[in-house]
Amino acid sequence: MTGSEALYERGRRLMPGGVNSPVRAFGAVGGRPFFVSRGEGARIWDEDGRSYLDFLGSWGPLILGHAPAPVVEAVGEAIRRGTSFGAPTAREVELAELISRAIPSVEMVRLVSSGTEAAMSAIRLARGATGRDAIIKFEGCYHGHADSLLVKAGSGGATFSIPDSLGVPSALASLTLTLPFNDLAAVRRTLETRDGKIAAVIVEPVAGNMGVVPPTRGFLQGLRDLTRHHGALLIFDEVITGFRVAYGGAQSFYGVSPDLTCLGKIIGGGLPVGAYGGRRDLMEHVAPLGKVYQAGTLSGNPLTVTAGLATLRALADPTVYRRLEAMGAKLQAGVEAAAREAGVLLTVNRVGSMLTPFFAAGPVTDFESAKRSNTSRYAKFFQGMLARGVFFAPSQFEAAFVSLAHSEADIDSAGAAAREVFRAL
Ligand SMILES: *Cc1c(COP(=O)(O)O)cnc(C)c1O
Repeated sequence: MTGSEALYERGRRLMPGGVNSPVRAFGAVGGRPFFVSRGEGARIWDEDGRSYLDFLGSWGPLILGHAPAPVVEAVGEAIRRGTSFGAPTAREVELAELISRAIPSVEMVRLVSSGTEAAMSAIRLARGATGRDAIIKFEGCYHGHADSLLVKAGSGGATFSIPDSLGVPSALASLTLTLPFNDLAAVRRTLETRDGKIAAVIVEPVAGNMGVVPPTRGFLQGLRDLTRHHGALLIFDEVITGFRVAYGGAQSFYGVSPDLTCLGKIIGGGLPVGAYGGRRDLMEHVAPLGKVYQAGTLSGNPLTVTAGLATLRALADPTVYRRLEAMGAKLQAGVEAAAREAGVLLTVNRVGSMLTPFFAAGPVTDFESAKRSNTSRYAKFFQGMLARGVFFAPSQFEAAFVSLAHSEADIDSAGAAAREVFRAL
């Protein structure tokens, strides 16, 4: 049995929802997922031979596009020398050096196998290093699915911390305080009322998981000043933004240095990866140097590290980020013009090559305003684009990614598809 429909039927019998990660099931936009047979450059092909212009980019890692030659060649050569050793290799040192040079606040780094692990471990380190238990996160920010981070506030704001998932003990969730993104006053109040209790503030410096929401002017610097004043650590979750909004991530883009940084996605070149790093005195708490335990059988995997190095080396050229900015701006302009022509209410948020079209008047500055978007309109937009061979994220609350493989013609054809779709909305 081949073809997406048949595979979906077979898969659903054995895998929850027929998928290995929930958003892939298209629950937010309806319909059934297509199964991918291959990708090349800016396009993917499904099991029925249809092709799509891809603006999902595997949810962020594929900044060079699909199967880029430097990565394919490097991994092809590396795999013949063995897939895993459980002992260190030269390329792990090279990747650590490259990351630390690109992101100077990362004085030491530990590679792990997913962004979830990176954020979970950074939180453990923050708790271990400060001797404090509570953390602050922001509503709508996603930091992977570790228990402490699967929490957002209910209507009680910071006083009630309700887990987003069954199975997260409320005792643990109560240590995660959730505040509105971009609300510095709320952070100040919470740090004051819980003075000496907060281990860390963790934030996506550009939110990508409620749709793209940039930090308002002064927000990140304000977090830097407040955390320093109260002895809490500042953690930037740059799993999406690292090497995406700038080579040095959002921290170089906005000029604010956190104590700890989480990385993932791009640094693995499309293979499973995560990393956390930061101040040397903090990272020295990590085992075997210190008493914060964290380990991984496949951490620093030779294939992952090879793919990551090939990817990051291809990005080490300032013209790359100028091109990503120009192409992102072009996609935004195309979609906005199409909406204007058709009289569709649309607010596009964008930082460089990551953007989200919200079906709302805007501005979209936090999760509350993001949720005002008309999600059934987004679902129609998604389906309309897909029917015209353009693949956007299957949820309003995600980012679209432009890669270096997208051509001007690709961006034009996405704009033309949007024009048709908006006219029919
Ligand atoms: C994707 C993502 C994660 C989780 O990474 P996984 O590799 O999916 O575990 C964490 N934080 C942010 C900001 C992400 O976008």
